[in-house]
Amino acid sequence: MNILKLKELATDRVQKGNPLLVEKDILNFKNGIDGQIVRLISGKTQRFVAYALMGKQHKGIGWVVSTKEKWQWDIDFLIELFRVAKNKRQHFFDDTQTTAFRLFNAESDGLGGLTIDVYHRSLVISYYSNGIFTHQQLILDALQRQFETYTIFEKCRFENAPFDSRQVCGQADAKQVILENNTKFAVDLNDGLMTGIFLDQRDVRYYLQQNAQNATVLNTFSYTAAFSVAAALGGATSTVSVDVAKRSIEWSHKQFEVNKIDVSTHQFIVMDVFEYFKYAQKKALAFDWVILDPPSFARTKKRTFSVTKDYDTLLEQAIAVTKQNGRIIVSTNASNWAKKEVLKMIETTFKNCQKSYRIEKEFEQPTDFTTLQSLPSTSYLKVFVVRVLD
Ligand code: SAH
Repeated sequence: MNILKLKELATDRVQKGNPLLVEKDILNFKNGIDGQIVRLISGKTQRFVAYALMGKQHKGIGWVVSTKEKWQWDIDFLIELFRVAKNKRQHFFDDTQTTAFRLFNAESDGLGGLTIDVYHRSLVISYYSNGIFTHQQLILDALQRQFETYTIFEKCRFENAPFDSRQVCGQADAKQVILENNTKFAVDLNDGLMTGIFLDQRDVRYYLQQNAQNATVLNTFSYTAAFSVAAALGGATSTVSVDVAKRSIEWSHKQFEVNKIDVSTHQFIVMDVFEYFKYAQKKALAFDWVILDPPSFARTKKRTFSVTKDYDTLLEQAIAVTKQNGRIIVSTNASNWAKKEVLKMIETTFKNCQKSYRIEKEFEQPTDFTTLQSLPSTSYLKVFVVRVLD
């Protein structure tokens, strides 16, 4: 087993429960050990600190898997990890109105680089590094002990992966309809890296549904229009869903169809959101709700969008088309953007627009998307419901 020597600060961090390793933490780092279990020792005292599984991903180079010296990387370890994760989510398994949720949330459930989602009787595994993917068979074997009858799909979210998505076992169709607080969502579990729904926005969708009575709603970066469906079921009189991807339209229609909502007052527009904002301002449109939930980074033919640089412009545009007393959902999943920075961006943008506002409600990740206090970036989701005053 390879032995890596930790710098002092890193030793301290690991001992305090932060499992992330970055290259500069290690005194004798070498390449070519992805997938290996290594022994971490203190560079100063040479004493055992932890075991780690090496795997390069954008966050770092590997993850601590155990701080117990008497420990083994084997199927029993994984079975126990999955059992604990499953027990934590027992109420989700028992809830018949919500059938899709996160079962295992990477480092926050004890193993970085691996997430597992439940979609009714199917599991979707995502591997975030080639290192963790090396152990794919062991992970599957461990999972199947507790989920024998489930259909399993796998997704590889790392560079030079052998595939994006595949079905590894079971007979369930990849195209399914799941339930979330009794709302239906059509998903496709074997179509690239995404499934049609972002499960971490569950609570925000529910809140919108509870607060959209008689409202007009603009849903930007709408993807499969999940927010629009929630609003429509909550009694919104009309919704406009805007996304630059053509295929979003068909899928959005399907979401309305499975919920038996008449689409005559619901619009689906394939357009860059910044172009749409221009159009909306020219037509003097104004909405009761505007939803901003962009990807952290996106490149379209016309522009690149990065949340940390461009969110203020986006919010400015949104303010211009929100009615007085209307609400804007300011959402971001950028783990490198701290909550207080987002709040500062909101404050500065409203000041520049000479408008006042009130933050009415805040969301973080739902409880199935567990977090680690010792690693703040695990709390990546920041959502604010902002009331536009005068
Ligand atoms: N808010 C969505 C998820 C957004 S995913 C939900 O809750 O389900 C990001 C989406 O942004 C993708 O569908 C992508 O096509 C779209 N997108 C990226 N850049 C865009 C742009 N400049 N204009 C419009 N849509 C954009």
